[in-house]
Amino acid sequence: MHIKFIRCVACDREYPCENLIYRCRCGESLEIVYDYDEIRGKLDWKTLRQRPFRHWRYREFLPVLSDNHIISMNEGGTPLLLSRNLSRRFNVPGLYFKYEGLNPTGSFKDRGTTVEISKAVEHGSSDVVVASTGNMGASIAAYTALAMVKAKIYVPRRLTASAKIRQMKGYGATVSLVNGDYTQAMKQAVSDFERKGLHLLGDYPYRGEGEKTVGYEIVDQCDGRVSHIIAPIGNGTLLAGIWKGIKDLEKGGLITERPRLVGVQASGCQPVARAFLSDRETIMPVVPRTKASAIACGNPLDGRKALKAIRESDGMIQVVSDAELVKARKLLAQEEGIYAELAGAAPLAGLLKLLSTLNAGACVVLVISGTGLKD
Ligand SMILES: *Cc1c(COP(=O)(O)O)cnc(C)c1O
Repeated sequence: MHIKFIRCVACDREYPCENLIYRCRCGESLEIVYDYDEIRGKLDWKTLRQRPFRHWRYREFLPVLSDNHIISMNEGGTPLLLSRNLSRRFNVPGLYFKYEGLNPTGSFKDRGTTVEISKAVEHGSSDVVVASTGNMGASIAAYTALAMVKAKIYVPRRLTASAKIRQMKGYGATVSLVNGDYTQAMKQAVSDFERKGLHLLGDYPYRGEGEKTVGYEIVDQCDGRVSHIIAPIGNGTLLAGIWKGIKDLEKGGLITERPRLVGVQASGCQPVARAFLSDRETIMPVVPRTKASAIACGNPLDGRKALKAIRESDGMIQVVSDAELVKARKLLAQEEGIYAELAGAAPLAGLLKLLSTLNAGACVVLVISGTGLKD
């Protein structure tokens, strides 16, 4: 699909699509704006479903110009598992788990990465830089290896799981340990972009485009009848991406019923929840204090986008403690056989807190964002 321009989500300033920009001049995040006329009425589920069930099934909605640029490992196409035990225990009959731990590097990040690295190849970049709490770096490391591109990855020294660092190094990436949290790592990555001209990757416009496919697949797998999608919020890119995916389907005439989005944050890092609950537009940064490292983003890059998505979908944000996350992870493992990392169990922890008010429809989908094998 053709990109019309890149636009700021806060001040609406527009930029040409060939620009390699990552933030608006006002400091807020950017979104890709398409020309939907191209696909309206031309795509139907029958056509889409004749293709293999994976990320690139929805090719028309993704911003890569030529198929020759696509760097893919058959990411996406993850199972939507119907709950066998927790649905009965908590009386949510249509409870499903979208198990993103089955992606090539163990998290949904691969969906954003296949698009980001394909765009980097399209742009002719040979050196990329990214900041990560672990999974993003591991994913970038794998896909840059495949694309024969050099990757430099900044991670917070004390907050990053050692298995994730080993994974990045295993793929041959250069890993740099930073004192402080993810926000500090991000500053380093941005500085390499600005001073050394490395191609900056991470939770910037093209990643969110890739993460839209979680939304397409959920609607595809639920036959369009989804009442709630519950997902963790770190930088907010996943949740905002899912919502953009839902709206793409709407614009393409492929969905009639909108799901509500529920975001989940850890009580030790809840800047988006605070803005939501106090009806604010802007997000006040915090110093993260949670063991769920994948959602320990104190100054969420796509926080504003996530906030907008939740409001537009008539959704909500739930805040859960680390103890509730640990309990949810155990329930998933011991009652459903799903071994998730702590952040990946956040949607279940969130669900358990809103059971009394949940007006569940045919499908309530929890996005289990990453495997527990490396946490
Ligand atoms: C990155 C990540 C998140 C948070 O996603 P955002 O797009 O930053 O909101 C949640 N869970 C896992 C396992 C992750 O890797």
